[in-house]
Amino acid sequence: METVINLVSDTVTKPTQGMLEAMLEARVGDDVYKEDPTVNELEDKVAKLLGKEAALFFPSGTMANQAAIKVHTQPGQQLICDRYAHIFHYEGGGVSFNSGVSCRLVHGERGMMTADQVAQVINPPDFYHSPLTSLVCIENTTNKGGGACWSVEELKRIKQVCAQNGLGYHLDGARLWNALAVQGQDARVFGDLFDSISVCLSKGLGAPVGSVVAGSKDFVQQLIRVRKVFGGGMRQAGYLAAAGIYALDNHRARLVEDHKKAGELAKGLAGKNWVQSVEPCETNIVIFTLDESLMSSDKFVQEMGQIQLRISQMGEGKWRMVTHLDYTDAMHDRVLTFIDRLSVA
Ligand SMILES: *Cc1c(COP(=O)(O)O)cnc(C)c1O
Repeated sequence: METVINLVSDTVTKPTQGMLEAMLEARVGDDVYKEDPTVNELEDKVAKLLGKEAALFFPSGTMANQAAIKVHTQPGQQLICDRYAHIFHYEGGGVSFNSGVSCRLVHGERGMMTADQVAQVINPPDFYHSPLTSLVCIENTTNKGGGACWSVEELKRIKQVCAQNGLGYHLDGARLWNALAVQGQDARVFGDLFDSISVCLSKGLGAPVGSVVAGSKDFVQQLIRVRKVFGGGMRQAGYLAAAGIYALDNHRARLVEDHKKAGELAKGLAGKNWVQSVEPCETNIVIFTLDESLMSSDKFVQEMGQIQLRISQMGEGKWRMVTHLDYTDAMHDRVLTFIDRLSVA
């Protein structure tokens, strides 16, 4: 029987042999007392990579973003983000639940707003009828936007808007590594721009667990209290941090392979009459819609079942494929052939 090809997300990877060995060999301690040397090493490493003073390890990307938002805001305030933002759609309503904050959604392009759009939705601080705007959140690459990479120039313009209006500036960089692999910038470019950055180790990088938030010393000091309150203090977490260190050292350069495969999938889909549209593919995410008159969703699921291919639905008729570390060349050939052969008269 053929193996399952899981393109539902880049989170479905299993640790490699090298990663498991690094985990086994980790030196650990109690991280709630900040005495786990491997967690401390990971935090130092991420802080340095991003050019920030300090960083803190989290069990999930959601907790990482939510804790950062909590530190940046007070209940009753409002943050600005794109209408596609993960913090708005996929964090269980945590912005309102954890921080008592509302989201002002901007209708951007593939998950990306312009500085003008941001400036237009800032509530005047002396107009006490409306919530006080206090934070702008960016997502790079955009998840629901199909792995799109922001222009650093636009991010700089938004930073100016934040500075002029006294707003915090947070980056949900769950897939920042993918953006860096495409654009070839130094990660410190982003550290210079943002007050806080969350990055994920268990997406493209293939670690089993973990995210890290980087910021100033003072910010991270506040963050550690919030992490404790959220129940995110972990004990001998060095076993997990070791996987993160291994991932940063060994799995960043190979992200371009995921991007190449995703590009080939997008190209294959674009040539088919049963595909209505394919969104531009810049990194490891391919989003497309079917022409339902030629290929119903039910039929498509049935056809995918023939080669044991699993992908996800994003709502509004959109389908998403995400390439990753465990998506082999052989699997890729099978999927390309499947797309190529699947035809309707
Ligand atoms: C996956 C993801 C997160 C974090 O999600 P977890 O499942 O909690 O790790 C945050 N932001 C974006 C854009 C993501 O894709």
